[in-house]
Amino acid sequence: MSADDKRRRQFQALGKNRSKAYRNSYRNDLYEDSSGYSGAYYGTDNDHRQAGYRKPAGASYQRSTKKGRSPHRRYSSYTGRSSQSAAARRRAARRRRRNINIIKLILALVALLLILAGIIFGVKKLIGIIKGPEDYIATVSEARIEDTTEPETTAQSKKDRILSEANLLALQYDYDSAIELIRSDEEVAGSAEGIDAMARYEEIKSGLVEQDISKITHVFFHSLVVDEENAFNKEKWGRQADGYNQVMTTVTEFEKMLDKFYSDGFVLVGLHDMASMQPDEDGNMVMTPGKIMLPSGKKAMVMSQDDLCYYEYMEGAGFADRIIVGDDGKPTCVYTAPDGSEITGDYDLVPILDRFVEEHPDFSYRGAKACLAFTGYNGILGYRTDETYDPDSDMYDSEKKANENIEADRETARQVISCLKDAGYELASHSWGHKNYTDISYDHMKRDADRWDKNVNKELMDGECDIILFPFGADVGDWHMYTHDNAKFDYLWDLGFRYFCNVDSSQYWVQLGKDYMRQGRRNLDGYAMWNDIANGKNRLSDLFDASEIFSDKRPTPVPGY
Ligand SMILES: [Zn+2]
Repeated sequence: MSADDKRRRQFQALGKNRSKAYRNSYRNDLYEDSSGYSGAYYGTDNDHRQAGYRKPAGASYQRSTKKGRSPHRRYSSYTGRSSQSAAARRRAARRRRRNINIIKLILALVALLLILAGIIFGVKKLIGIIKGPEDYIATVSEARIEDTTEPETTAQSKKDRILSEANLLALQYDYDSAIELIRSDEEVAGSAEGIDAMARYEEIKSGLVEQDISKITHVFFHSLVVDEENAFNKEKWGRQADGYNQVMTTVTEFEKMLDKFYSDGFVLVGLHDMASMQPDEDGNMVMTPGKIMLPSGKKAMVMSQDDLCYYEYMEGAGFADRIIVGDDGKPTCVYTAPDGSEITGDYDLVPILDRFVEEHPDFSYRGAKACLAFTGYNGILGYRTDETYDPDSDMYDSEKKANENIEADRETARQVISCLKDAGYELASHSWGHKNYTDISYDHMKRDADRWDKNVNKELMDGECDIILFPFGADVGDWHMYTHDNAKFDYLWDLGFRYFCNVDSSQYWVQLGKDYMRQGRRNLDGYAMWNDIANGKNRLSDLFDASEIFSDKRPTPVPGY
C-alpha cells in the first residue's frame, strides 16, 4: 500500500461521522475511482450501502435477464425441430393439446369464482340496505372518519412539531421559551402531552443552579489537523511541523475532548451569555453579568478557535482549505485529499462541533457554539479577501498573488459569516497582522486595528464585532482593571470592542469591568498536553487526562516554544 493509499484509507475511517455532503462527494469520488474503497465505505452507512448496492447489482441483473431471453437462445431451441421424427412430432402435438386443455380448465374455474364472489358481494350489500339504518350509519360514519384523517394528521403533526421544538428549547436550557411555545397553541397547551411537558419543564426549572460567571473556563484551539502524518512531517515542513505539533490539536483529539467535556457535564455558553452591555438605572450602558441557569452537575464552558483563515502557508499541510455553506445550508469544510481531489465534510472545529451539538443538543446553552477569531492579512475562512490581494487597490501587495476573483470571494465569505452566526457562533478579531499588542507601539496597534476594522469587520461582517482574542494572548494591560487612561484599551474600546481575551494557564480568570469583560483562555494543544504528560504539570486535569487524548502520531517530545 502506498503512503497515499494509506492516508486515503485513514480518511475513510475518519469519514464515519462525516456530513452528507462529504459522503456524497466522497461517494462520487469513489465511483469515479476504483471500487476497492466502496466496500469499506458503504459498510459504515446503511442508506448509502443500499444505494450503492442497487446500482451495480441492478445493472448486472438486467444484463443476465437480457441474456436469458435473448433471441439467439430462442432461435437455437427452434432449430432442433427439423430433425425430429413424425412420432415425436405427434407426441409433442398431443402434449400441446393437453396443456391447452389444462389452461382452458383453469380459466373456466377463475371465471366461476369471480361470478360467485360478485353474487356474494351483491347479496351482502342488499342485505345491508334491507337490514336498516344502523349499519348504514355505521358505514357512513366509518367513511367520515376516513375522510377526516387528513386534517387530523395535520393537527397531529403540528402538535408533534410544537412539542419537539419545545423539547429542543428545554434541552438547551431555555425552559421559559419552551413553556411559552406550548402555551401559544391552545390545543397543544390543553393536551395531555402539553400539560405533562410544561409540568416537567417547571420541575427542572425549580432545580436549576446559577453559574458563577467568575468561574467559567475558556478553552481554545487553532485549525484542527486532519492529516497528522502530513502536518507533523518534519522533513516536509521543517520547523513549521514543530509549530503544528505545538499549537495545533488534531481532529481525533478534538473529538475525544468533546466526548469527555460532554460526559463531564460541560455546556457551551457564549461570551455574550456571560455578560452583556445593559442599561443601568440611570440609563448608562454597563457590562452586566448574565444569569446562566443550568441543572445541577452542569458546568458552563466557553470555546474559541483562533486564526480561522487557512493561511497560505498551511496549504497542502493536512488542514481544511476553506469553509463553505453546505448543501444543507450549514457550514462545512472543503479539504483536499492526498490524491488532489476536493472533498467536503467535517474537517475542522465548526462542522465537527455542529454535528456534535446536533447529536447532543444539551451540550449547548441556547444554541451557543464557539467564538471564531480572524486575522486579516491572508483574508478569512480560506478566501483571499484582503485588500492586499486586490490588484485594483492602492493597498495591493505586489508580493502576493493577486486575487482576480476578490469581489466574488468577499461575497462568499459574507455568506459563510452569516451562516456561522445563524449556527450560533460568535465572531472575534485576532488583530489584522497577528500582532503582539503588548509589545507594539500605540500607533502601530492603531494602524493594525484600523486595518482589521476596515477589511474584516466592515467589509465582511456586520461592522459590530465587539470581541478581541489577543494574538499570543498578548493583552494591552496587566491583571489590574482596565481604565480609559490606558490608551490602547481606550482605542480598542472606541472601535467597539467590549470583550477582551488573553491567554492564561489557570482554570479560569474573569474580570468584569464597568464597560468591558476580560477572560483568560487555555490552549488545548500539543504543547499543553505534552506539558501535562511529560513535565508532570497538572494544568488540564480538571478537563481530561492528557495521556488519554494525546495522539500517538505526534512526534515527541513536543518542542517547547
Ligand atoms: Zn493566533
